[in-house]
Amino acid sequence: MDANSDKGFASGSLGDVDEYSKKVLSALMTTIKASSSLPHSSDDFDLYSSFPGFRAFYNKQGSRILSNINSFLHHQGIKTLPQTDGQTSSGNVDVDDHYDRIVEANDMMLEQISTLLEQATAPKKDNSQPDTDVVIQQPLVFITKTKPIVSSWNRENKYGKQQTFKLFHAHNIMRPQTKFKDKIDNSNLPFVPKITEKPNAVKQLPKALVNLHSQSSDGGVSLAIVNLVRQGREYNAEDQNIYGHPYETELANLKFLNKQLQRVEPQKYDPFPSEPCEVITNLNELLDVIEHLKTCPEFAVDLEHHSYRSFQGITCLMQISSRSKDFLIDTLELRSEIHRFNEVFTNPNIVKVFHGADFDVHWLQRDFGVYVVNMFDTGQAAREMCLGHFSLDYLLQKYCDVHADKKYQLADWRIRPIPEEMRKYAQEDTHYLLYVYDIMKNELLDLGATGQASGTGTTRLLNTLYRSRDVCLRKYEKFLLTPTSHLKLYERRKSRKQLNNKQLELLKLLFEWRDTMARQEDESPGYVLPNHMLFQIAEIMPREAQGVLACCNPVPPLVRQHVHAIHQLVLEARAKGSGKKTDASHISTPTEVPVPAKPDEDAYDDILTCPHDLSNFDLSTPNTKHKPPQVSTAPQSSFLCNDGRPQPLLTGQSSNPTSHMQEANWDPFSKYFPPKNDLPNAPTKCITSLDDVSLKTMLSLEYAWKLKNLHGDKQEQAEEKKVVQKQKQQEEDVIILSNLPQVHGQKRHPQPNQDKKMSRHAKKKAKKLAVNSDIQPFEYTQEHYKRFHYHKK
Ligand code: AMP
Ligand code: MN
Ligand code: ZN
Repeated sequence: MDANSDKGFASGSLGDVDEYSKKVLSALMTTIKASSSLPHSSDDFDLYSSFPGFRAFYNKQGSRILSNINSFLHHQGIKTLPQTDGQTSSGNVDVDDHYDRIVEANDMMLEQISTLLEQATAPKKDNSQPDTDVVIQQPLVFITKTKPIVSSWNRENKYGKQQTFKLFHAHNIMRPQTKFKDKIDNSNLPFVPKITEKPNAVKQLPKALVNLHSQSSDGGVSLAIVNLVRQGREYNAEDQNIYGHPYETELANLKFLNKQLQRVEPQKYDPFPSEPCEVITNLNELLDVIEHLKTCPEFAVDLEHHSYRSFQGITCLMQISSRSKDFLIDTLELRSEIHRFNEVFTNPNIVKVFHGADFDVHWLQRDFGVYVVNMFDTGQAAREMCLGHFSLDYLLQKYCDVHADKKYQLADWRIRPIPEEMRKYAQEDTHYLLYVYDIMKNELLDLGATGQASGTGTTRLLNTLYRSRDVCLRKYEKFLLTPTSHLKLYERRKSRKQLNNKQLELLKLLFEWRDTMARQEDESPGYVLPNHMLFQIAEIMPREAQGVLACCNPVPPLVRQHVHAIHQLVLEARAKGSGKKTDASHISTPTEVPVPAKPDEDAYDDILTCPHDLSNFDLSTPNTKHKPPQVSTAPQSSFLCNDGRPQPLLTGQSSNPTSHMQEANWDPFSKYFPPKNDLPNAPTKCITSLDDVSLKTMLSLEYAWKLKNLHGDKQEQAEEKKVVQKQKQQEEDVIILSNLPQVHGQKRHPQPNQDKKMSRHAKKKAKKLAVNSDIQPFEYTQEHYKRFHYHKK
């Protein structure tokens, strides 16, 4: 906007990259300032627009900026924005659409940068080798500190300065999954709680769950699959209990302690040490931590997580602070021991202070079978107090005058040993939290009862504790692929990309391919094939395999490796469908297509969100976290702000703290099973033909077979097999799918004739597939889930 700075920028010598980016940034700041002072549509814009001089200036500058943006996008090989004619009314421009596209373009460029950096710093290797992390004994860590980046995940810090993030790129990080004692269960089946022992129990664990754990303890067969097979053989109502929240009863009956409802003299934190603490990696030290925590009336907890190179995500670090000590616990190294924390985490006499625990609660359950009873979530407190900003850095600034730098939030927390800067960052996340807790508790008591301007009362404090309890009641749900999963993604982009039937069919096939691949390789869908590339392929439907590669820049390793399989999907979609434009509104109506099992098309967002796939963040709240998976159906809250306005609830919360418990009882199999009472005469509504499809998807991962079968090219097959074998040597097979035949072999259905027939058939199929794949497909026959089909008899 400022012609002088423009000129100075263009004519000055640019020097090195640092100098250049400084200049760009300062020019940007000037521009942002200038544009902020323009009249907004919400205030006097219309008035100003009535002056021809203003309109002319506005249109001229508008087209100039747009054309600048477009030449930049063009240069980057990204689709440009529709040019608007400066003369016509600019009211036609869809600002939101432009904004979305720019964010998307930013994301694409960041992804390119990220991949190029990775390629540039990775050791040279031969092209045919998959670009998975190389396992070497001494992990080499290259740390790339990037300049501040503005994208959808750090758009704007609502209460102050622009946030910056440092993306730590590390190469040759050993996949931590290879060292896990527990097998990761990426099957398309509901998550079964990992808990085997239940300290501080009021109600014991369901017997079915205990049995299930003991049955599948050897052989590493997925609990979900063992349970499925068992359910397929005999219907046992108790089986349904196993999906409940193990601490539901304890949380429902939770009585808060008197002292936790009283004012306290805030206890100031110790000065932050000059060196961050060391990371605990051995069991003895961990046991010492637990012993120490047993003596504490309260302690603070936080987790760091990685989601890009894993299907469901991995908790990498746990930070705990008591009044006197900070601990950093390596949850990769001690993964199978973390369940021991249940002793203190579920002890109702110890208050656990978290900040924004929505995700932490899921991660604790998923990775360790750990639950929390009696939590104070400072994020919930901030909401209850209607502070307007809910992030931890805001609270630290407000209460401790500490300027916490959240720039490592997106670091790769799998890096070992963890660099000092990152340890410091992690330790800061809990170091001040108990002091913040003290102050917030007092302020909540000062705020007093709802509706009162001041005074004392425990209402606000209790509301906070109930909100926190609701967070604890949330259950981790695995993303389950259904025949309609892709529509959610389509809906989000529909305004920009209308697909015809064939394209939509391809979108579905690609979505399923990506899902299968991600589960199999234990990678995030965003790593396998980022959304914008997926759309690009679906839209273009390239005739040649090379065209598939051309849709992706840079080409993701698994896409390169499976380009022929993907191309086959394109051909398949081309052969199907009419090519007419679709109206997805009728496709996605729940009456026509089975509604996916409750957990979570939204949870998929969680899986998709990773530092490198930035297209899915919702930063509409100042909290820098992405959107939590479950959205409460409760339209309004009983929690009121000071002025009596109802305050929108955080996700996962309901006005009635106990109503959540009904949700906690949600039965993931309910749509496949008839209601309990009419077992013998099952109604036909249980299974529709579409249900059959989703059932297949859920059970058989027939997509994996389909993919393998699709390969016409023998050479490609041989090559792929080589690659797979190589990979197998490098990595332990974490895919539970390969264990399927074991289940079949061990737990036979006692019907000899059919059994024989079945295994002959299965053998035949296995033989056919053995050529193509290392996966031994397990043929689920009708017999295996006759429970699902018996209404047809
Ligand atoms: P925190 O509770 O702020 O320490 O964040 C815990 C973990 O959540 C981090 O290690 C990240 O993996 C993830 N995370 C937090 N904020 C974001 C974000 N804005 N985008 C992506 N991941 C995030
Ligand atoms: Mn956290
Ligand atoms: Zn943290």
